[in-house]
Amino acid sequence: MISNLPSIIDQLLAGDTATLPANVYQPSIQVTNGNVYFIWQAADKRSLVVYEDAEPAAEFSGEQQAYGDKMIVIAPLTAANNAALAKRFAWIKPSSRHGHKYTFGLGDRLGNASNAHLRLFKGRGIFPVLAQQSIRELLLTGRTEQDVVLAASWAVFEEGYQDGWGADGDHVKEPFEVEYALESGCSMITLDATKQIHNEIAELSDAALDARYQALDPAVQADFNATYLDKTFELGQASVHFDRHELEQSVLIFFDAVRFAADIYARFIKPGNVDFEISMDETIVPTTPANHYFFANELARRGITPETMAPKFYGEFQKAIDYQGNIKRFEREFVVHEAIAEHFGYRLSIHSGSDKLSVYPIIGKLAKNHGWHVKTAGTNWLEACRVIAKVDPSFLRAIYQYAYDHLQDVKSFYVFQAEQSNSPRPETIKDVTVMRLVNEDNPRQILHTMYGSILNAQASYHYVFRDRFFAELTAHQALYDDYLNRHIAEHLDLLQNIAPDKAAVKAKYDPE
Ligand code: ZN
Repeated sequence: MISNLPSIIDQLLAGDTATLPANVYQPSIQVTNGNVYFIWQAADKRSLVVYEDAEPAAEFSGEQQAYGDKMIVIAPLTAANNAALAKRFAWIKPSSRHGHKYTFGLGDRLGNASNAHLRLFKGRGIFPVLAQQSIRELLLTGRTEQDVVLAASWAVFEEGYQDGWGADGDHVKEPFEVEYALESGCSMITLDATKQIHNEIAELSDAALDARYQALDPAVQADFNATYLDKTFELGQASVHFDRHELEQSVLIFFDAVRFAADIYARFIKPGNVDFEISMDETIVPTTPANHYFFANELARRGITPETMAPKFYGEFQKAIDYQGNIKRFEREFVVHEAIAEHFGYRLSIHSGSDKLSVYPIIGKLAKNHGWHVKTAGTNWLEACRVIAKVDPSFLRAIYQYAYDHLQDVKSFYVFQAEQSNSPRPETIKDVTVMRLVNEDNPRQILHTMYGSILNAQASYHYVFRDRFFAELTAHQALYDDYLNRHIAEHLDLLQNIAPDKAAVKAKYDPE
């Protein structure tokens, strides 16, 4: 038992926080009805300290000691202790984004970025989705969905963040994945209907497309024709028109996905009152306004309004670099997508949102009244690499060498432009130029997409990089927190129209 705990508890009950030892993490302190809760930070680990009547305190497991007529428990940060604490403080559990206009997905791949994120989000008026992990990311990092939600929940308690937060089972594709995410405590599901979206239809000639459509059951065709064919839907500042080609494509590419989403809705979303997003961003063809309207309208005909929808917008949203494409055309199409979303009563969701600084002023302006959801792409990992570049440049050079040599590992997982031929050769990077690796587009993408291979690389039954990587990060947590905040603040300032453009946030926040 920590010897001075009784006197600390007396101090807290007396409202005296001025002279507490540094081990008491001050943002975590909660004093209610004569009970006390806080996080104790020792060099090697953090614990929860609880001071309650003996009977309720027995819900916590850990080292116990009677004090006065109550009990002190030093509880490890386990799932069971988290569940007991959530009975006292419901805000440590994830909740729905419903009713929040601006929401932002962070996706902390390594499990140690949420504290810094929460300090940044305090008072911003944006609901953070701290946990946001796809099954692919879980496999690559060796974490479970429950690990991810639990790490975020403890961070929420530690920071005393009571404004609500979300946990997103990101890009789930199968019913069992939906079930797994919900059982792990996710408050939100992002259903990825990629497997039910028939991109190959977009390649067909008009004649071949029409032949497929004419082969559908006549009653099904008659319903679609009566609902859409040669009709124009007025949506305030935009309109959507269906000619035969647009209708046939929309049906044949997307109708299976509508049926899949409706099935998932009936089985999981409605019974569990779950926060629902539908994503089409990882398909090959951009979602046209007619495609989007068709999808949304078919959902509405089935009584389904998702919280958010993620179309595949015009242009390229590659991981960890800025938007690529014609920004004027992006803006014209975003106006229509936004009008569709407002008409049907959900918000647009922008995926792979890390570093898309060129388009954020547009999104911030056009979706200001109705709201938005933005997902970052787990780029806190790159900020972790930036820490390594700063404190141990030769180690980051070795990591880059490995990533560069094994780039074919991830070519099938991600769409990105970086290749060996267009990226710096590892031997040309020196300690003094190592920041190029996290600042320039191509090496940045190599490091970003290779995180799984880097963390899992082994030789002689030892991790090659993993243990040293985490040790460096833990030793320089304050620097990591600073980098994390600068990186995300660039996004938020543009989305909230606090800063006018990319140059302004770069000047304000870029570390070097
Ligand atoms: Zn996505």
